[in-house]
Amino acid sequence: MNRKDRILIAAVLAIALILAVVFYIRTRLLPHSDPAVVTVTIDGKLYGAYALSEDREQDIDTVYGHNHLSIRGGYAQVTEADCPDGICVHQGQISRNGEIIVCLPHRLIVEILSGDGGGVDGTAR
Ligand SMILES: [Zn+2]
Repeated sequence: MNRKDRILIAAVLAIALILAVVFYIRTRLLPHSDPAVVTVTIDGKLYGAYALSEDREQDIDTVYGHNHLSIRGGYAQVTEADCPDGICVHQGQISRNGEIIVCLPHRLIVEILSGDGGGVDGTAR
């Protein structure tokens, strides 16, 4: 083994070490890289779960009625509903772990669940 080989091996090891450290930091020290999820339940049953980080327009049609869920820029909101009170629409945007939008007439609950299990720090934007 000559000197060039040793330098090459040392360089490869150094790069591998750097990659391992970067990977460790990204997976362990940045809990908000865990994506928050918007869950929709109807009558206590899971209707769907959508990533809060991906913009989405989702119609929710059930026997109880129609709601439209809009996920945009990290916020979830019921933008349309044919329920008589319209409270779910007026509840506006939610983005933090544990926040919910409820539509009682439609038995609909939209909830934010963050992957790191809670805490304001993990979900504050
Ligand atoms: Zn409603």
